[in-house]
Amino acid sequence: MKSYFKQFPNHEGFFGKYGGSFLPPDLQLEVDKITDAYYTISKSHNFISELRSIRKHFQGRPTPVYYCNRLSEMTGGRIYLKREDLNHSGAHKLNHCMGEALLAKYMGKTKLIAETGAGQHGVALATAAAYFGLECEIHMGEVDIAKEHPNVVRMEILGAKVIPVTHGLKTLKEAVDSAFDAYLGDPVTAIYCIGSVVGPHPFPMMVRDFQRVVGIEAKEQFMDMTGELPDNVVACVGGGSNAAGIFSAFLDEDDCDLYGVEPGGLSMKLGEHAATMSQGSSDGLIHGFKCYNLQNEEGVPSPVYSVASGLDYPGVGPEHSMFKDAGKVNYVVADDAEAINAFYELSRKEGIIPALESAHAVAFALKLAKEKTRQSILVNLSGRGDKDIDFVVDKYGLPENRKM
Ligand SMILES: *Cc1c(COP(=O)(O)O)cnc(C)c1O
Repeated sequence: MKSYFKQFPNHEGFFGKYGGSFLPPDLQLEVDKITDAYYTISKSHNFISELRSIRKHFQGRPTPVYYCNRLSEMTGGRIYLKREDLNHSGAHKLNHCMGEALLAKYMGKTKLIAETGAGQHGVALATAAAYFGLECEIHMGEVDIAKEHPNVVRMEILGAKVIPVTHGLKTLKEAVDSAFDAYLGDPVTAIYCIGSVVGPHPFPMMVRDFQRVVGIEAKEQFMDMTGELPDNVVACVGGGSNAAGIFSAFLDEDDCDLYGVEPGGLSMKLGEHAATMSQGSSDGLIHGFKCYNLQNEEGVPSPVYSVASGLDYPGVGPEHSMFKDAGKVNYVVADDAEAINAFYELSRKEGIIPALESAHAVAFALKLAKEKTRQSILVNLSGRGDKDIDFVVDKYGLPENRKM
């Protein structure tokens, strides 16, 4: 039988009933060209060699796996972190942005176009564009521009052009539409670069494949450190790219339990969380692909919320949607309060300030460690928390004078 990765997605980009590509014909034509290029170019020896060299010399890969001594002692489990926070630019996102930008270079493109919500994808893509000497245009809602000032400045320092999106709610959804329009207006010189394992085929496949390096490294490092496979693997899930990356190495290992942690926000009331698979319906169609999504009674994508802005997306990658139905991965929830608590626990017990997104994975790992005493837990620490420090301290205070 063919291995998992040769079977999914199929040629139309489906992971079971999820995924695919539902686009206007003119846009589909352009996206098909990216699919063709991906299948040929990204498998070539030159492409692979160049990407490997970039990962080593520019990104600083492999990132380490680290054993959390004090957190393990505190919980009774054995907690390990895959340190994607040490990847250049501070998160796992650069893994797929360097791959996408390298593909752009091989396709003869001169310009990268994307949307960004909180600005993390925009910063990673602007980094990649600077590396390759490509133009970079980032579409961002006006509301987000006001909220995420440091990331806007970072993108501009890196030479990217930030395009304010002024219609509708002026946030991520409108920014996606605006970026697609810009791409459609300039499909010969530009390429659209998505920020997670979402969107129409080939993006969920492409981003997953570029993130697989996380799983490949982590498995080898963990085996080298412990002589065995991890009992549990944990990652936070927004769109699902960092989770897809680390899970990829453990899908065929029946002894590894996989956990995807969705943001529980303030409560399980629609609009106050972004727990798409735990709470959503399986018949969603957004941004050109099918997936679980959070929708209101009229079937319109619902507003979502999480303390971690990188996790608040009303959809989720099609591969995760399939894993959910198949029971391959357990999708669980950590809420704002648990994430903030984990943010401080990891900072104070191990000297590592995690991104609020990653803090959701840590929060669940702390719980799991107390339940599954002596078992090993490998957490994908998707990013560092420098971007979140002012927000956390202003809103919640330090643990000794906590406001919540
Ligand atoms: C964007 C982001 C996420 C969420 O994206 P996924 O595609 O679900 O991985 C998680 N962690 C960090 C640090 C991020 O920047």
